Amino acid sequence: METLANEFTNGEIKVTFNPNKCIHAEKCAQELSEVFRTSVIPWINLDGADTERIIKQIRKCPSGALNFCYNEKEHVVK
Ligand code: SF4
Repeated sequence: METLANEFTNGEIKVTFNPNKCIHAEKCAQELSEVFRTSVIPWINLDGADTERIIKQIRKCPSGALNFCYNEKEHVVK
């Protein structure tokens, strides 16, 4: 599910992508291609894997272009 161009959510987490930081190492696309897709728009499909697996992959991003936060924290701030 896509909300903004570089912001995606599956209800549980919100994933953001900063294209200015991405060094195009394609670590994400190679290791979790069901979620991080190089030739499909939107390129991040959070329905492609479970949340834990997605978080694990985001933490491997070498540039910090990919980030996430839990949606429930936003609700608390409200
Ligand atoms: S792993 Fe990070 S730096 Fe590499 S392509 Fe994906 S978003 Fe870009």
